[in-house]
Amino acid sequence: MQTPIVLDGKALAKSIEQELAARVQRIKEKTGTVPMLATIIVGNDPASATYVRMKCNACKRIGMQPLKIEMPEDSTTDDVIRQIQALNENPDVHGILLQHPVPRHIDEMACFNSIDIAKDVDGVNTATFGRMAMKMDSFKSATPLGIMTLLKHYKIPVEGREAVVIGRSPILGKPVAMMLLNENATVTICHSKTENLPDVVRRADIVVAAVGKPRFVKAEWVKEGCVLVDAGYNPGNIGDIDLENAIAKCSAYTPVPGGVGPMTISSLIRQTVESAEKRFGIAAE
Ligand code: NAP
Repeated sequence: MQTPIVLDGKALAKSIEQELAARVQRIKEKTGTVPMLATIIVGNDPASATYVRMKCNACKRIGMQPLKIEMPEDSTTDDVIRQIQALNENPDVHGILLQHPVPRHIDEMACFNSIDIAKDVDGVNTATFGRMAMKMDSFKSATPLGIMTLLKHYKIPVEGREAVVIGRSPILGKPVAMMLLNENATVTICHSKTENLPDVVRRADIVVAAVGKPRFVKAEWVKEGCVLVDAGYNPGNIGDIDLENAIAKCSAYTPVPGGVGPMTISSLIRQTVESAEKRFGIAAE
């Protein structure tokens, strides 16, 4: 077996940031406007606060303007929707992110669906999903887009390959499965009711783990030479795949941390830049 390729999301995100910084500069020069990503965070979840801080820092690194809106834990669905509507109408805002998850009493999907699809740079609105699924012009769910960008950059063959996605969440499992299908993979989506999961995973040329359980996918489940994409991010920087033992069997893998995570942020800010370019009629170079 050859040494597996490390799908280095951290390095790729860094080089994409350089390109984005130049595009932000061009928007500034042509329009006098700085692209702006508005981030709404509801409640006091420490992990969410960290993710939002990382996203705001990434905006600043490329010269973009972050706008952070903190809403109290007891905000209602209507409160959040009103805030989103104000951002939809604000011409200075080019992208809107509602940090997932929101407190349980809030109807997250109703909030996502109130985001104007022209500003839905995190790709969470159901209309955005539908357009992406139908291969129409649309933003895309940020983590799945990051995964696909990483696979493409490292020239991982997708067409005709068996891809097994474990997880079917609206922000990760479902959209990544659809994107793999759109790239002509043969896709199986697994979830908590899937029977004989290890046997299904054994068929996979590409495994995408999006479960939210540390080291859930075992080395014995994976086929020799497969590509391992670990979207999981559990406390202690632990992914959803037992990478320590599975690396020896695979041909390529995303490390945790430094694989999928940086690519999620990169996709979010890239789509915000694209949104601003579209608004001002500036063609991407
Ligand atoms: P989620 O909404 O909790 O979804 C988890 C999925 O896993 C569900 O579809 C669930 O199936 C499935 N599942 C749970 N137990 C299973 C089992 N025993 N066998 C098979 N499937 C099982 O999670 P998520 O938001 O998609 O996130 C998944 C992971 O990705 C988490 O670790 C999260 O932290 C990480 N994440 C990372 C990033 C990043 O940027 N790196 C971004 C987002 C999320 P059911 O549908 O049947 O319940």
